[in-house]
Amino acid sequence: MSMDALDQLYREVILDHHRHPRGRHDIDRVDVEASGLNPSCGDEVTLQLQVEGDRITDVAVIGRGCAVSTASGSILAELVKGHTIEDARRIAEIFKRMMHGEDPPAETDLGDLEALTGVRQFPVRIKCALLPWVTLLDAAVARAEGRTGKTITTE
Ligand code: ZN
Repeated sequence: MSMDALDQLYREVILDHHRHPRGRHDIDRVDVEASGLNPSCGDEVTLQLQVEGDRITDVAVIGRGCAVSTASGSILAELVKGHTIEDARRIAEIFKRMMHGEDPPAETDLGDLEALTGVRQFPVRIKCALLPWVTLLDAAVARAEGRTGKTITTE
């Protein structure tokens, strides 16, 4: 695929998630919650997770921000629901490394998240793309430490 076609694909995936963000619903029970802020763009996100054992059974993504951060939060809601916290943490770490230029491990299927790596060519947007995932990592830490209250991160 040509670079232009790839750029077009990236844009379409991001715009679709931006226009129809997933995870914008109330969840039955909030077991862990974390919030993140990206001051350089003004993006805000709060993640609420419902957890059974160590499995994420529902995700709510609350917030406002640019198309990239909104799309990233939407993709997060789609990708991590049904996974264990450990799997979700692993995806977040892989995505962080990808945004800093590494290729994903060969067997990894990151779905629409791969489209977001197109954002790497706009360095100022990397923090926008990472915000929901950095916030998820904080939620995982909060869960591991048995904290249920709010965790606020400033990236
Ligand atoms: Zn942003």
